Amino acid sequence: MKAPSFDVVRAASLPQVFDLMRQHGDGARLLAGGQTLMATLNMRLSEPALLIDINALAELRGIAVAGKLLRIGALTTHTEIEASALVAQHAPLLAQAAPHIAHRAIRNLGTFGGSLAYADPAAEWPACVLALDATLVLRSATGERKVAARDFFQGLYTTALRPDELLAACEVPLLAPDERQSFDELARRHGDYAIAGLAARALWRGGKLSDVKLAFLGLEDRPVRAPRTEALLHGKAPDDALLADAERALRAELQPMGDLTNGPDTKRQLAAVLMKRALRRLSA
Ligand SMILES: Cc1cc2nc3c(=O)[nH]c(=O)nc-3n(C[C@H](O)[C@H](O)[C@H](O)COP(=O)(O)OP(=O)(O)OC[C@H]3O[C@@H](n4cnc5c(N)ncnc54)[C@H](O)[C@@H]3O)c2cc1C
Repeated sequence: MKAPSFDVVRAASLPQVFDLMRQHGDGARLLAGGQTLMATLNMRLSEPALLIDINALAELRGIAVAGKLLRIGALTTHTEIEASALVAQHAPLLAQAAPHIAHRAIRNLGTFGGSLAYADPAAEWPACVLALDATLVLRSATGERKVAARDFFQGLYTTALRPDELLAACEVPLLAPDERQSFDELARRHGDYAIAGLAARALWRGGKLSDVKLAFLGLEDRPVRAPRTEALLHGKAPDDALLADAERALRAELQPMGDLTNGPDTKRQLAAVLMKRALRRLSA
């Protein structure tokens, strides 16, 4: 299928973007990398009259350390994150996750902000920022507000973004001393959306894990943490007995939705496999 006809404005400033958003309301869509939007237009899942191309806005680009945070601009591409020395040093979880996103051609164009704003429950970045306790920076004509990742993802393709806002950046706490991070996922073929995935991090001190964060993708209508399992793991050595307890807790805690090819039991099994692999890696 082909997309319906639409106009495109290449915005030169944020005030112009906000002005166009106000004038056109639901008839307009922001265009970042276009790697999701253009496909949905071609499938006629939406028919906006106007695309507001934000790619010329330099203030939405770039990766920088600011105090104790790594700030990643919304227009930063998946490939730029994958190749960034700052990301590798301060948020290795993101560097590990990036190669799992689609294929190189898509990673060269698709953006961090586009993926977070789209909030596909099977996407890698939403689970990563949830595991990292990151903060989303939202801008509108009236200013800036910050929303914790745990409050940003509100359901299937649904976020805390208001109609007059765009996602400007994401702020990620820098890797702490003794902190380890691990990303893994299970997909039918490399580059496919994952059936299930896990972004995990923990402190590893004196042979014990603490402050364990487990954020799963591909299971429910949004990325989900497993707080009861995380609490069970806190301050303990990950021996076989603990892994068995953690698996029982995780299976009881997760409420996966089936998809076209995998039922809830399969997803629960894959989540347990991913968790045990991650805990071994975090404590290796
Ligand atoms: C074949 C294929 C395979 C893929 N596989 C994966 C995969 O395995 N994992 C994965 O995570 N993704 C995958 N993707 C999606 C890809 O990662 C997209 O790049 C990403 O989801 C959207 O980013 P984008 O910059 O292309 O956004 P766009 O397509 O330009 O926009 C997506 C949506 O977000 C909105 N938007 C964009 N930027 C902002 C912003 N700054 N503020 C507010 N709203 C904004 C747009 O209006 C639109 O509604 C795949 C895509 C394709 C085509």
